[in-house]
Amino acid sequence: MSKVLQIGDPILRTVARPLSRDEILSAEIQSLIEEMKLTMQEYHGVGLAAPQIGHSLQIVVIEDINHSHLTKEELIERERFPVSFHVIINPKLYMVEGDATFYEGCLSIPHILGKVTRAKQVRVECVNELGETQLIEASGWYARILQHEIDHLQGVLMCDLAPPQSLTTTKNYQKWWRQANSKPEDDAEKMQAHTEL
Ligand code: ZN
Repeated sequence: MSKVLQIGDPILRTVARPLSRDEILSAEIQSLIEEMKLTMQEYHGVGLAAPQIGHSLQIVVIEDINHSHLTKEELIERERFPVSFHVIINPKLYMVEGDATFYEGCLSIPHILGKVTRAKQVRVECVNELGETQLIEASGWYARILQHEIDHLQGVLMCDLAPPQSLTTTKNYQKWWRQANSKPEDDAEKMQAHTEL
């Protein structure tokens, strides 16, 4: 497992480079992908981009399967459904339609959430870890994860998109901004986990 780099590290502001097919299939990149998967799981994130562990390469891993910290209402409102582990390399992102505004977090900006407006539906053209071309049509929270992670490859962080006035600690989000019908304050730690990307 690697350490996730924190905001202020210049690599998080660097545009990551695409990989050739030969590079993708190399032992070095295959083990980097494995490392990214382990790190994302260890930090309880739902996505991780290679620059977050110090590699300025266009690789993203995503897995969003643990939703026990959210109420049924929150899951419905966010259009959040389970997304199994997969790898996205050299992505091209196209906004399809709609927009939605929700608080989101980032493993590279610990304990802070901000309100970010993102497209509700996106299309992503990319290759997977085998170098095969993929076309992903995504909506709801999965579309949000894709936009957040692909932003990381461009050196863009969620705090660039959130109005500064919306920034809140995770604890104050629980205390002040989470819906009244949601779970009590004491699961702030759990909320922090499984929310960040
Ligand atoms: Zn992030």
